[in-house]
Amino acid sequence: MNLIDIIKNAGIVGAGGAGFPTHVKMNARVDTILVNGAECEPLLCKDKEMMKNYPDEVVGGLLLAVANASAGRGIIALKGKNKAAIEKFNAVIAANKLEDTIKIHILGDYYPSGDEVVMVYDVLGRVVPPGGIPLAVGVIVSNVETFYNIFMAYKTSAPVTDKFLTIAGEVERPVTLKVPVGVKISDILGYAGKVLVDDPVFLSGGAMMSEVVYDPETPVTKTSSGYIVLSKNHRFVQRKTQKPQQFRKVGKSACDQCSYCTEFCPRYLVGHQIEPHRVMRTLLMSSSSEPLVTKWAANCVECGLCGFYSCPEDLLPNFMCATAKRDAAAAGVKFEVKKDFIKAHPMAQYRKVPTKKLIAKIGLSGYSDHADLELIEIRPKSVTIKLRQHIGQPAEPVVAAGDAVKKGQLIAAAPENKLGANIHASIDGKVASVTGDAIIINNINRGN
Ligand code: SF4
Ligand code: SF4
Repeated sequence: MNLIDIIKNAGIVGAGGAGFPTHVKMNARVDTILVNGAECEPLLCKDKEMMKNYPDEVVGGLLLAVANASAGRGIIALKGKNKAAIEKFNAVIAANKLEDTIKIHILGDYYPSGDEVVMVYDVLGRVVPPGGIPLAVGVIVSNVETFYNIFMAYKTSAPVTDKFLTIAGEVERPVTLKVPVGVKISDILGYAGKVLVDDPVFLSGGAMMSEVVYDPETPVTKTSSGYIVLSKNHRFVQRKTQKPQQFRKVGKSACDQCSYCTEFCPRYLVGHQIEPHRVMRTLLMSSSSEPLVTKWAANCVECGLCGFYSCPEDLLPNFMCATAKRDAAAAGVKFEVKKDFIKAHPMAQYRKVPTKKLIAKIGLSGYSDHADLELIEIRPKSVTIKLRQHIGQPAEPVVAAGDAVKKGQLIAAAPENKLGANIHASIDGKVASVTGDAIIINNINRGN
């Protein structure tokens, strides 16, 4: 079986948060494969821990991807502060005489170093065109855990049944775990010790680009990379959950057009057409109820930097950009993107936002950014496995309520000739229910 079929069968999707099906991404010819080990979301440690604990597997997955794409080289990009991981990778490269094929690129500790467009520019000096993907400039970028999953699927035929993630924030003992896909947050929270607040919410996927999850019964998916536990009343949570009426109204009355939001925007700095201060200007000139349609938001990647860090008025231009993108889509407006002559801003390398300063600004300085990997066997009573954990169409169930299933068994298949990914049972058990949204499996060894 070729590598692409192995990846497809194993249901591998981008493990960094995006969830793009990996068999589609890897099915290309490029000159460089880039391992994204930046992990720039504050407090998350799962990539750092994986690189430290599984350097052979990550390099193994990278070599498979390099060979498959006929790429001349693979580059592992990670932050200089991750010294243990760098040492481990160098040892693997030296032991296997891979110096000509695999390189290490050391990144500074800034946000958002893991944005693939920013990373391709920083590592290779190439500008991915607006609206495009790194493939357009001869590069495939994937998360550390994705390469680990490729290696495991190739070596052991293991499909994706588990997820590495960090639990941090208001917990006694931040930790990184390997958990079955579909386990609930409430099932794994205790492994980080006591929750230290009475009214916890969970920032799923980190601080900056996360969704605020209120329900601890929410299941883990193949794209979960961690949960930051905070009080519902933490100022950052309050900002992240501001209602549109409020951020529109405040933005309209308080934006002074200083343009700091644009000057620090990482996508603007690589030369993309994105200027959040102009989005705010459109807001100043529109009524509160009308849709906000402006081309200056079209290339926003919603990294959050302009709102949570750059704006001196504490406005939320990031939310206005997101609103403008959705309003334009709803109105059927498409903007012509000028792709020629894209040049990075001359200050691009000098306007990076240090992670430490960002953490201080968003009020997370008091929390530990260390969370060692602990390999604990987690045996939940049941798992709720979503049929859509990836970009594309939901997987189609191939099991029914009452069926006995084994860990690793295919339970839902990617639809034929459509973008999607296979889904597998993450525990041994009995299928309790199959809905249009998820398959619930009860763990028969836990006496349900
Ligand atoms: S940084 Fe804030 S105040 Fe300045 S232009 Fe942007 S939104 Fe307006
Ligand atoms: S959220 Fe703000 S800083 Fe980030 S890409 Fe969008 S406009 Fe730029």
